[in-house]
Amino acid sequence: MLSDPQKRSAYDTRGFAGVSGFSEDELFRHVDFSDLFSGLNFDFGDLGLGMGGGGIFDRFFGRRRSGPRRGANIEVELSVPLSRVASGGEEKVRYSRRCACQECRGTGAKDGTKRHRCTSCQGTGQKTEESRRRERAGELIVRNVTLCSKCGGRGEIIDETCGTCNGTGFMERQESLTVNVPVGAEDGMALRVPGHGSPSESPGGAPGDLFVILRSAPDPRFERDGADLWRRETISVPEAVLGSKRTVPSLDGTVEVSIPPAAQSGLVLRLAGKGLPNFGGRGHGDLYLRLEVRIPERLSKRQRELYEKLRALERPGRT
Ligand SMILES: [Zn+2]
Ligand SMILES: [Zn+2]
Repeated sequence: MLSDPQKRSAYDTRGFAGVSGFSEDELFRHVDFSDLFSGLNFDFGDLGLGMGGGGIFDRFFGRRRSGPRRGANIEVELSVPLSRVASGGEEKVRYSRRCACQECRGTGAKDGTKRHRCTSCQGTGQKTEESRRRERAGELIVRNVTLCSKCGGRGEIIDETCGTCNGTGFMERQESLTVNVPVGAEDGMALRVPGHGSPSESPGGAPGDLFVILRSAPDPRFERDGADLWRRETISVPEAVLGSKRTVPSLDGTVEVSIPPAAQSGLVLRLAGKGLPNFGGRGHGDLYLRLEVRIPERLSKRQRELYEKLRALERPGRT
């Protein structure tokens, strides 16, 4: 998919400019992060796809031009309350990041022990097997390269591994960071925080980036649909028949609503401008109330009498 130039340009144009306080490559919309992160350790520069430029796409994928390989990008989801989506502003994000083990300073070896070159692969970390096959076109040499099983591809054997990191040389460290949520941030939008991804595994390599994916936190009062909010509002039979006024929650307090007479179940009332602010634009979405008429399951003696009278009115001669 990545060799497709159209897709590439789509990634580049999906950066969103024009929102105050955010540059074009800090904010991304509609990005398929499964695509983005499935190829983490894949170096697109090696493929020679000829996608020159140096746009967002290149930074996204940590494409290297020269020098040591960058660290991996990290993706973390941040649950953002609707009130914060409405106001914009700072939210704290917690995530874990791989860093060099402090105990062994990244070597993976226990203090005082040594590392030896793996004799099985001569330090290359790879095993190459060659086989020859006769084909109609001639002899075919098949070269099969696999990771060395003795050293796990490291090319080295450690006498005794570090107990803290089990010889990997890495640890997970909990990090926390404050990010600025833009007003009206859409669900699934990503913020890029340069340099807060995984450190490079090559000496001198730059760390990767952190992508904070904003998710609207569930809210017991509303469901979000873009900038619009939806709410189910239960009303009684008399309210549905006669109409009424009631106070419903809104994002910034409460709002007074008139329920019209003869309101059927499923009727939707729209409160214009009472939704979330539109992202990167003007105005607000709407708040929608979907009415649901509640049929009482228990009646007081008095209520029962009144309902029976109503029934008598509708069906004269029967009780
Ligand atoms: Zn260690
Ligand atoms: Zn080996």
